Amino acid sequence: MRKSVTSFIVIVSVAIYLFGCNNQSSADISSKIEIDSSINSCPKNVILFIGDGMGPEQVKAAGLYANGISGSLSFEQFPYSGTATTHSANNKVTDSAAAATAMAAGIKVKNGVISMAIPGDKKELPTILEYYKAHDRSVGLVTTVYVTHATPAGFGAHASSRNKTTEIGRDYLNGSQPNVLMGGGGHGISVKRAQAVGYTVVTDRTEMQAVDTENITMLSGQFEGEIPYEYDGVGDMPHLSEMTSTALNILDNDTDGFFLMVEGGKIDWAGHKHDLENIIYETIEFDRSVSTAFQWAKGRKDTLIVVTADHETGGLSVVESKGKGKFPKVKWSTGGHTPVPVGVYAWGLGAESFTGEMDNTDIPKKIMGH
Ligand SMILES: [Zn+2]
Repeated sequence: MRKSVTSFIVIVSVAIYLFGCNNQSSADISSKIEIDSSINSCPKNVILFIGDGMGPEQVKAAGLYANGISGSLSFEQFPYSGTATTHSANNKVTDSAAAATAMAAGIKVKNGVISMAIPGDKKELPTILEYYKAHDRSVGLVTTVYVTHATPAGFGAHASSRNKTTEIGRDYLNGSQPNVLMGGGGHGISVKRAQAVGYTVVTDRTEMQAVDTENITMLSGQFEGEIPYEYDGVGDMPHLSEMTSTALNILDNDTDGFFLMVEGGKIDWAGHKHDLENIIYETIEFDRSVSTAFQWAKGRKDTLIVVTADHETGGLSVVESKGKGKFPKVKWSTGGHTPVPVGVYAWGLGAESFTGEMDNTDIPKKIMGH
């Protein structure tokens, strides 16, 4: 998009641009018929994986631990890859809210903002999840942190601040109503509130795995306040890969297709603490979740899988590999986030556009074929 026009026009144009798949002439896309037909050129199924705080060195460290060589995680074997810049509207270092908004709505906002035009007219920015939902496709959000946290919120809610979890919870339950909404509970949602709007609610792994996935349309997983760290053991809670499997088994009942976002949320939490063991175990489980989705998707010609991160956390760099099963020697440059470009890896329908250098706002546009 041209940068020389007013922010209002940029926002409207990008929203319209995003609101149509594979339609190069977006001038007359306001007609409903045209929008309805353009959804058919989007990938039928989209699975977007976001490793929160998973920069290139986090990926490298996990590969070294898991297999003794870098470049060895499953998503690193995808046929297409590139890098994405992550700066927000007001800072070269993004937070998860602005990065999620960029990847959900294709627009830069200030740090802390959840899919609202700030800076701008404060309007709610339409997201890719809402676009799929509006076209009668099923949608899902899965994370290891609480479901009203910034990354999933960017796809299914609108708020001037990521801290407004009550508003975010209300947006999920009364607005976007993802068919699958799984992660930690509390923080703006509750079992009662989810049941009141028609969700079946599960609170541990046993309950989740007892769900009849062929006959359920609304599942809320509220697993304590968050999933425990993989390195410590998740106990009675499900692994991210198990949640991914359940989500796919529900969403794939929709013959029209679906959009699913899966977040490895605690890679970032461990990064802030320079906790390498937890970073590596969280990243390996995140990779296992990607493998789960790939096993579901391989052989299909109608599905796109994209794996990326919202930003890097900790300024991690690997100094020396110690071999398979041993934690590499590393160093850190900060306790916060960094502007290091993140990796983007893609497989499936439209994956070939995910190469070279891009910006995080390009990701939803590329998903939709632009
Ligand atoms: Zn963080």
